[in-house]
Amino acid sequence: MALYVLKFGGTSVGSVERLQCVADRISRRREEGHDLVVVVSAMGHTTDELTALARAVCTDPPTREMDMLLATGEQVSIALLAMALQAKGVPALSMTGAQVGIVTESAHGRARILEVRTDRLRQRLDEGNVVVVAGFQGTSSGAGGTAEITTLGRGGSDTSAVALAAALQADACEIHTDVPGVLTTDPRKVPEAQLMDRVSCNEMLELASLGASVLHPRAVEIARNYGIPLLVRSSWSDEPGTLLTSDHPRAVGRDGLELGKPVDGAELVQQQGVLALAQMPDRPGVAAQLFEALSAAGLNVDLIVQATHEQATNDIAFTLAAEELDEARRVCRDLLDQLCAQSCSVTAEAGMAKISISGAGIMGRPGVAARLFDTLAREGINLRMIATSEVKVSCLVAGDQGRRALQAAAEAFELSVQQLLIDPMPGGAGEPEVRGVALDRDQAQMAVRQVPDRPGTAAAVCRALAEEGISLDAIVQSERSHGEGAERCRDMSFTLRRDDHRRAARALEPVLAQWPGARLEAGPAIARVSAVGAGMPATAGTAGRLFRALADRSINIEMIATSEIRTSCVVAEADGVEALRAAHAAFGLGGTVQHRVEGG
Ligand code: ASP
Ligand code: MG
Repeated sequence: MALYVLKFGGTSVGSVERLQCVADRISRRREEGHDLVVVVSAMGHTTDELTALARAVCTDPPTREMDMLLATGEQVSIALLAMALQAKGVPALSMTGAQVGIVTESAHGRARILEVRTDRLRQRLDEGNVVVVAGFQGTSSGAGGTAEITTLGRGGSDTSAVALAAALQADACEIHTDVPGVLTTDPRKVPEAQLMDRVSCNEMLELASLGASVLHPRAVEIARNYGIPLLVRSSWSDEPGTLLTSDHPRAVGRDGLELGKPVDGAELVQQQGVLALAQMPDRPGVAAQLFEALSAAGLNVDLIVQATHEQATNDIAFTLAAEELDEARRVCRDLLDQLCAQSCSVTAEAGMAKISISGAGIMGRPGVAARLFDTLAREGINLRMIATSEVKVSCLVAGDQGRRALQAAAEAFELSVQQLLIDPMPGGAGEPEVRGVALDRDQAQMAVRQVPDRPGTAAAVCRALAEEGISLDAIVQSERSHGEGAERCRDMSFTLRRDDHRRAARALEPVLAQWPGARLEAGPAIARVSAVGAGMPATAGTAGRLFRALADRSINIEMIATSEIRTSCVVAEADGVEALRAAHAAFGLGGTVQHRVEGG
C-alpha cells in the first residue's frame, strides 16, 4: 500500500460537476488500496474575485486581512470535496492548514513553509480516511502568541502539496491540472508543442516562465531538494502525464522545510581555456558560423557569452577545455579570415578555472549570486567571466585561484566536503541536448559601462540590486576592455524584468557614482529564448544549432548567455515568438499532436 498526495487545481474543482468528477477519480484511486492525502485550490477564479472584493473596499488592503480573506477560498473547496466523497461512500474529512499544522514564517501573502506536522494527518489516515487539505494556506505563531493565518503566494497550493509529500515521505505527489503535463514549449505560441514524459526538476526550473506556467516554482524546488517524485497530469484523463525527477535528494533538515540552504553544491573545473573574439560583425549568422565551425572540429564549448555591442560589433567569448584551446583558436582564425573581418581580434588564455555554485534556492533569491561575488572579491579574486542561471552561478577565475575560490564558496554557503566536486565528469550522457524551449518576455536589457575590471565590481553591482530584491537573469561581462592596468574598465550587461527597470537604475546610481566614467545604459525591450536540456554538457554543437536556427530566419542575437544545461539568446522583442518556433523546430521537439489549452 502506497501513500500519495494528489493535488487538484482551481479549474479542476471549478464547478459542482467537476468536483464530482474529481471525487470519482479519488474514489477510484482509493479502491486501488492506497492512502490518499488530497490538496485542493480554491474553486475557479475565487481567489481573483476575493482580491477584487478587497480592492473595492480599500486601495491597499492590509496583508494580514488579505490572508484571512483569501484563505477562505480553499476552505470552501475542501469542505465540498469531503462532502462529495462521503456521499460516494468514501470516508473523508477536510482539514485547514492550521488544523494539519502547516507552520510558516509570518510573512503574509508570501510565507514560506517551515514545517508540516504529520501526527494529526497520520491519525486521520490510519482511521481510514481520505484527508482533504486546504492548499495555499498555513499558520504562523504570530507576534502576541496568537496563531495567524498565512498564505504562500499565488499558485501556492502546488507548494502545499509537495511540502505535504515531503513531510509524509509519500511515494509520490501528483498534480492534477487542466493541461496534460509539461509540454516542450508554450502551445499557444507553438502549436506543435509535445508532451514530455520526463523532465528533471533542474530543467524545469531553467525553463523559467514555461515551467512556472505549469507549476509553482517553489513546488519544484521542494521536489528537487527532497527527491519527491512529482507527476503533472490531466485531471480529466488517465494519461500518465510528465514525471519530474531529481538527482541528489537531501533529508528535510532543521532549517525549515522551505528555508533550507539555497545552495547545496559547489564545483571547480580546472584546466579551462577562454577564447575571446572582439569586434565581430553584428549581423545574423556570425555566431552560428562560429559555433558550427567549432563543433565540426569536434570541440565542445562550455560557457558562451556575447555582450551588448557598441558601433555595430559584438564581442563573443567562450570557454572549453584548455587542451582544445589551440585547435579552437585555429578554427576562429580561419573563420575570421573568411568573414574578412580584419578588425576582429582573437585572444586565447589557458590556465583558467570555473567555479560554480548550484541549488534550487538561487532562483528568485538575488542575494545568493551577490554573496558569491562578494566572497570572491574579499579573497582578491577577479572574475574573468560570469554566467548565471536559475539553478547555477559560474565564474571563470585564474587557475591558480581556483582552489581558494572553491574553499571560500564552501565556507560562505556552509557546504560540507561531500557537497564539493573537483573536475567532475560532464553529466547528462544519454539525456536529450534540448528537452524544451522557453520564451521569456517582458524583459529589458541594461548595461553598466566602464566599470573597473577588478575584484568587487560585480559584487557591488549585484549587491545593490539584490538589496532592492531585483533578480538579474543573464549577467554578461563583456570582453571589450577600455584602458590599461589598474585603470582597466569593462562593460557588464544584464537582463531583468522590465517592471524592475526603474528601481534598478535608482539602486545603481550611488554604486556607479564611485567609479569615474562609469555609466548606466538602458537597453531596448527584449525577449529571451532559452533551450534547456540535461544532455547539453555532454553534446557538442548545441549552441551552433540554436544560433543557426535563428540566423536562418534572419533574427539577430543581441546577447548570448549560457549555463550548464541552458543556452539563452536575447533577441528583439518583436522576434521573440519566431525565435521560439525556430528553436523548437531545430531540436526536433515538434510533433503532430495538438494540445488543448485552457485558462486557469
Ligand atoms: N487559490 C490560490 C491562487 O489562486 C492558490 C492556488 O490556486 O494554487 O493563487
Ligand atoms: Mg491555481
